[in-house]
Amino acid sequence: MKPVRVRFAPSPTGALHIGGIRTALYNYLFARKHGGKFVLRLEDTDRTRFVPQAETYIKDALDWCGLQLDEGPDQGGSYGPYRQSERKEIYKAFAEKMIANGNAYFAIDTPEELNAMREAAKAAGNHSFKYDHTMRINGRNSLSLDQAYIKEWVASEKPYTIRLKIPEKETITFTDIVRGEVSFKGSELDDKILLKTDGMPTYHLANIVDDFSMKISHVIRGEEWLSSTAHHVLMYRALNLEDHIPQFAHIPLILKPTGKGKLSKRDGSKFGFPVFPLSWNAENPEDSFEGFREAGFLPEALINFLAFLGWNPGTEQEIFSMDQLIEAFSLNQIGKSGARFDYDKALWFNQHYLIGRQGIEIAKMIRNQVSDQISDSYLSKACDLMKERVHRANEVLDKGYFLFEPVKEYDQKNVRKRWKPENQSTIEVLLTRLEGMQSYDAQDIETMVKQYLEETGLKFGDVLPVLRLGLAGIMNGPSIFDMMALIGADEVRSRMTRAFSVFNQIKKDAIQG
Ligand code: GLU
Repeated sequence: MKPVRVRFAPSPTGALHIGGIRTALYNYLFARKHGGKFVLRLEDTDRTRFVPQAETYIKDALDWCGLQLDEGPDQGGSYGPYRQSERKEIYKAFAEKMIANGNAYFAIDTPEELNAMREAAKAAGNHSFKYDHTMRINGRNSLSLDQAYIKEWVASEKPYTIRLKIPEKETITFTDIVRGEVSFKGSELDDKILLKTDGMPTYHLANIVDDFSMKISHVIRGEEWLSSTAHHVLMYRALNLEDHIPQFAHIPLILKPTGKGKLSKRDGSKFGFPVFPLSWNAENPEDSFEGFREAGFLPEALINFLAFLGWNPGTEQEIFSMDQLIEAFSLNQIGKSGARFDYDKALWFNQHYLIGRQGIEIAKMIRNQVSDQISDSYLSKACDLMKERVHRANEVLDKGYFLFEPVKEYDQKNVRKRWKPENQSTIEVLLTRLEGMQSYDAQDIETMVKQYLEETGLKFGDVLPVLRLGLAGIMNGPSIFDMMALIGADEVRSRMTRAFSVFNQIKKDAIQG
């Protein structure tokens, strides 16, 4: 086997959707598993769609996900430059070689002429106009026009493109690691543009020239590129580079949560979950998106989740560290059918990984959303108390809001059930005793409360739910003793004082009502 060299080849046209991260991940896992190289190549030849911040976004996203690059614009490497716009000179010669051996041709149709052809096709009932073998004879190109005329046109630097000449009678067949043998009829393929009027290569030309020049062994990419692969195979052949065709693995689409249709970047706001690794802020708020990171996810959770969108290890095991993924990963275990995006599963993974983190680490994830008045150590402790009860780091702040501010709402049903006004004075004495403690820590509070219950004959059920309702407003949450230790004796006293009066009122209303 040739040395494994794989590339992640995004076009910097905006934020990178998680589908792109999954592609990068599979490439990364494959490279690491086989001791190969993982290359970042920026396919930025389409200057009309170029977005300058996108490159940084891509690199930051890969970095956050822990997908370290071996070669790329920042790392360098023996096959650079790694931005296609910096390799412009390389491509033209390849296109010209295809012309020279009759596999490509010059086309000089203007945009207006192409439009007219499209309209004429439409009028004849053909709505999916393609510049293909049936159309090329109607076009203005070196197949239909006088050679001398074209030669002079090109020599005088008037605008022209170079198109691939598809052999319409052939069936193009190649083997895909995921899909097996795949065939496309030449008669159904269009004569793709290889070199544009601005002298820039199209995706197709630059992509195969670079895969060849960078000695890429395996092309692992989304299924949407499958039909382009037929064009690519023809181009390798046209260049006499058949022996250099990489192995292909086309990974299945990521589907909407409903299972119908491809997951799109707009689905995030539609279904209320992130579809980008990191937030993307555009001028137009409609084009801005929240990222998994900002939504309170850990990168290892996103990675574990994405690994399973299309691949599975063939066992029951679901939790995989990056190293375990590298060990287990195989292109042969990638499925053919679309993978449904299941946000609940992403949350499930994230909860698992959050539980394994220290409070201090979770605190860092949400620090910028919390007032400066809350100290780092307080926030860390709050995260420790809440981490088993949340799926996203940010939920520490909303689900556990009562650790940071007074109760906003009491669970009235439980207050009616649990609150016995006749116990108020006994509980108040308990609070006074607690206030007198030397160290107000969870263990000591618990000992003191238990001791007091024994002494007074009150039951756990008379006191603990009341404290819980008074301090948090709800019946579930972290240990009541931990919570008391965290918010402190003064806060416990002031919350309970207010709670008693609210509770008595609720009780009174219940009796009257
Ligand atoms: N530039 C293409 C993209 O944006 C790369 C496709 C490929 O991997 O060949 O996805």
